[in-house]
Amino acid sequence: MITIENNWLEKDSKGVGYKQYLRKLAILKYLYNDGKMPKRELANRTNMSSPTINKLIEELQELELVKDYGLGEANQKGGPRPTYFGINPESRFIIAIDVETYNTKIAVFNLVKEIVGDVKEIKVKISGNTENILDLITKSVELHIANLNINKSKVIGAGVALKGLVNYELGESYTYLTHESKTIRELFEERLKVPVVVENDARVMALAESQFGLAQNINNVLCLNVNWGLGLGIICNGKLYNGNDGLAGEFGHIQVEEDGLLCDCGMRGCLETVASGYALQRLAIEGLKKKVPTRLEKIVGEDFDSLDIQTIIETANQGDQFATSLLSEIGYNLGRGISYLLHIFNPEKIIIGGLVSLAGKYILDPVNYSLNKYSMAQIRNKTEVQVSKLGKKSVILGAYAVFIRALFSEIESAEYSAL
Ligand SMILES: [Zn+2]
Repeated sequence: MITIENNWLEKDSKGVGYKQYLRKLAILKYLYNDGKMPKRELANRTNMSSPTINKLIEELQELELVKDYGLGEANQKGGPRPTYFGINPESRFIIAIDVETYNTKIAVFNLVKEIVGDVKEIKVKISGNTENILDLITKSVELHIANLNINKSKVIGAGVALKGLVNYELGESYTYLTHESKTIRELFEERLKVPVVVENDARVMALAESQFGLAQNINNVLCLNVNWGLGLGIICNGKLYNGNDGLAGEFGHIQVEEDGLLCDCGMRGCLETVASGYALQRLAIEGLKKKVPTRLEKIVGEDFDSLDIQTIIETANQGDQFATSLLSEIGYNLGRGISYLLHIFNPEKIIIGGLVSLAGKYILDPVNYSLNKYSMAQIRNKTEVQVSKLGKKSVILGAYAVFIRALFSEIESAEYSAL
């Protein structure tokens, strides 16, 4: 478990002070999850006495974290209308960073799940000198915060999403943005000067789906992040599954073709080589070189490398047969891969997210076709396959969600249950 340092909540690390800190954190958690409520309801939910709730709410108001929202509706039995208390949304802020292959998205969230201003996108390649890349990202974060007129002292932490092998507990990345002596979490914390958590992009996407998207209140869900690469976030019995070394979900790197194409990971024939944004781009370039008739030719000319996922999807949406057939092939291969997962996990739902999922039915239909072909009917029938509705924001929402989860995870520890 990662413990988040938070002076802003007057954290005392031991004794009575620590208990009071955990109690305040618990109040914030209930208000975060369920919104405004009267003190009586908070007392019931947290199993704290009314005097304790009164005192702690007062302290949280002094810290400007909680605010009086006035009188609510009377209950059915009549009686006085209760005063509602809730989180003061803009009293503190959280930074969310989504480091992608060719660009990085930055967003600032308030304490009630909302993005403040816009999501900022900067062009920065994931390959190169790690420190230089992080310097660039940090500068953009600082600029973004300044442009939003947010006082930096009100930023309480950051969540970072990154592709490749990432160990959340250790804060370490093994594939991208590696460093000889420091973890990526340390490198970000040195620069941002707030507590940072780092997690794999597909896993944070799964968290985003369970908090904001199609996986809310569902216990067994698989979330596929079909971007340039292919990732998987597994929600098993209501919890994100990280695996023994924190590296679960490397679904893109299971071999599906013996002696297939060389993958980024160094192996051959990985699913990612035939079912991802890279695969889509490769197939498109192959077709263009063979002079297959397509509108893509006019768009990219000879500059094949400029061909991106979005352009192929837009061209398919305009009725281009070649672009549509590329998405069909990717979807078919993806569905074949998903059929393995279906047989192993028997999930209630499978959510397809990432840039490629923005193709909607062009990707979903071939996935379903493949699943019908390669899965046992009894397992297949009850599993719903859907395209994420969070669109391009799914990973940035997840980067926020993973920080929030870390923040509140402390109250699930033994100490709090003993209160
Ligand atoms: Zn691979």
